[in-house]
Amino acid sequence: MEILRTVESVREWVRRQRAQGRAIHFVPTMGYFHEGHLSLMRRAKADGGAVIVSIFVNPLQFGPHEDYARYPRDFERDRQMAESVGVDAIFYPEVAEMYPEGFQTEVRVKELSKPLCGKSRPGHFEGVATVVLKLFNIVTPDRAYFGMKDYQQLRIIQQLVRDMNLPVEIVPCPIVREPDGLAMSSRNVYLSPEERAAATVLYRSLQWAQEQVAAGERNAHALREGVYQRIAAEPLARIDYVEVVDAETLQPVERIERPTLIAVAAFFGTARLIDNTLVSP
Ligand code: AMP
Repeated sequence: MEILRTVESVREWVRRQRAQGRAIHFVPTMGYFHEGHLSLMRRAKADGGAVIVSIFVNPLQFGPHEDYARYPRDFERDRQMAESVGVDAIFYPEVAEMYPEGFQTEVRVKELSKPLCGKSRPGHFEGVATVVLKLFNIVTPDRAYFGMKDYQQLRIIQQLVRDMNLPVEIVPCPIVREPDGLAMSSRNVYLSPEERAAATVLYRSLQWAQEQVAAGERNAHALREGVYQRIAAEPLARIDYVEVVDAETLQPVERIERPTLIAVAAFFGTARLIDNTLVSP
């Protein structure tokens, strides 16, 4: 497995892979790996081709009062985990390699960046879209793998690819959960044991909504209210949002008539956790 620290070394590595007739399969991450990340890498590997993973805690996507400085980082641990699933290369750039002095361009996917996390994290998705576009231009992947845990991010990247005619296939991958249902996240390390136990309320509430839809509930307001009340009943949870939106446009719906996303965000202590589930009539 090769460790690449510069844009030029990635370009050179990609040229070598393509010369051997290998497709480039790319998994962008911020590191501090868990099974969610590894599931993307395994899928990229299983699809054939050379697998390259980026590890970059992107300062552009963090707000001034967010957790950029304390975001968990452990390159050596990540290196070993990536190697264990057969990753071929890691792109691990310094901030100055991605944003040299004088950097000033940002991309914005206008409508999809507004609702859900876009409301409480102004500028976040501009940071995401900008870094992903840069990474795509550096790596030139044939396929790129994104987790549905960050569903809004996935939709924004799909729109970016379509709007900018990027020659990459986006592969959505299912949410990987702990045995008790908590969605895996690098940010779960922020949770105290009490908060960790309380955080399962997100998944339990989404499961409740799934069951309601399976039993015939079609009223989005009733589903939102039910999920909201369940999370609000947990004293350690502070809700940011609970929304029932169209899975494509991310706009609120009144009835479950098409694929619909139920998305939640809540603070447990200082950790802001997100989760979601797709429901269909
Ligand atoms: P991050 O390092 O948190 O930016 O995540 C990198 C990629 O891993 C993104 O495409 C995420 O959606 C994906 N990911 C993170 N957590 C999970 C999870 N629990 N299940 C599936 N994919 C995940």
